Amino acid sequence: MMDRTEMIDRAMGALIGGALGDALGMPTQLLSPARIAEFYGHVEDFVAPVADHPVSKGLLAGTITDDTEQALLLGRILIVSGDRFDHTRWVNTLLDWEREVKARGSYDLLGPSTKRAIDAINDGVPPEEAGSGGDTNGAAMRIAPVGIMMPLEPLDALVAKVAETCRATHNTSIAIASAAAVAAAVSSGVAGGDWRAASDRAVAAARRGAALGHWVTGGDIAARIDWARGLVRGKPIADGIRLITDLVGTGVASQESVPAAFAVFEIAGGDPWQAAIISANLGGDTDTIGAIAAGMAGGCTGFSRLPQQHIARLVGIDLAQVRSLAADLVAARISKAGSGKDAAA
Ligand SMILES: [Mg+2]
Repeated sequence: MMDRTEMIDRAMGALIGGALGDALGMPTQLLSPARIAEFYGHVEDFVAPVADHPVSKGLLAGTITDDTEQALLLGRILIVSGDRFDHTRWVNTLLDWEREVKARGSYDLLGPSTKRAIDAINDGVPPEEAGSGGDTNGAAMRIAPVGIMMPLEPLDALVAKVAETCRATHNTSIAIASAAAVAAAVSSGVAGGDWRAASDRAVAAARRGAALGHWVTGGDIAARIDWARGLVRGKPIADGIRLITDLVGTGVASQESVPAAFAVFEIAGGDPWQAAIISANLGGDTDTIGAIAAGMAGGCTGFSRLPQQHIARLVGIDLAQVRSLAADLVAARISKAGSGKDAAA
């Protein structure tokens, strides 16, 4: 039986685990595995990006990026929205965020799907219809708060909430399936499940999510997650990493980076810091893969079992604010679950 304190610990584990994966991958994102090795050796701790890094240049070692920042923003919008997600407020929040990021002098701005949606809104498309083409991994990277707030059962309600939050930017079968997988994994952790249960629930949720939103072409997310985790299961870490980079893929496309995150989750055996390290060295969308994999892992271990010495060195995150958000999301979850049904999962 999960009590509220333990649920908040797991909620914090998901959010801060995600931040660890994000910050560890910040200096390696967009680079090839060979470049990463050349610039940094094997990344096992926070490092500052190389001076000419295309998007991370100038950031301090341990700095979080868009993945964590947008997850925390989405969490706040969920709390203020109540039962009906406020699409207009969400889009305005993303726009304000990008303005603030530019003012900070950062180059790590909105991703391709979110950008396209905002351009559509500026052209007069209503916010709740702007995400009809968004199929990259931006919804999956920031979805953890939905998994914290929504009980695992009924799974359809969780997946429907995921789809609702995707409508403005990522209203496609592929993006919704991807985000549903990650949200279900986090929800399973907050309900008390271990990492294997989380991974199984993710596949089931992705299958349901694929029926929602605008259909777009691409490999099936549920099938690809199941394939990717089976591909690396029981393999030595080095072999698993090669299979991810060669076959699964680490690009911004949902059908690559999201199954890759589940394969990392599998090789790491649900260990959040291990998941962050594996992701940071993969090449490609390292920070997002790390944020997803380590976030799901943290949701299954809880904050108190995360490496505190690394958390202390995170830059750009206020732990007290995250704790208050985690508590608010868990309170919303408990009020939805009503009885102790969810707690017994
Ligand atoms: Mg990022």
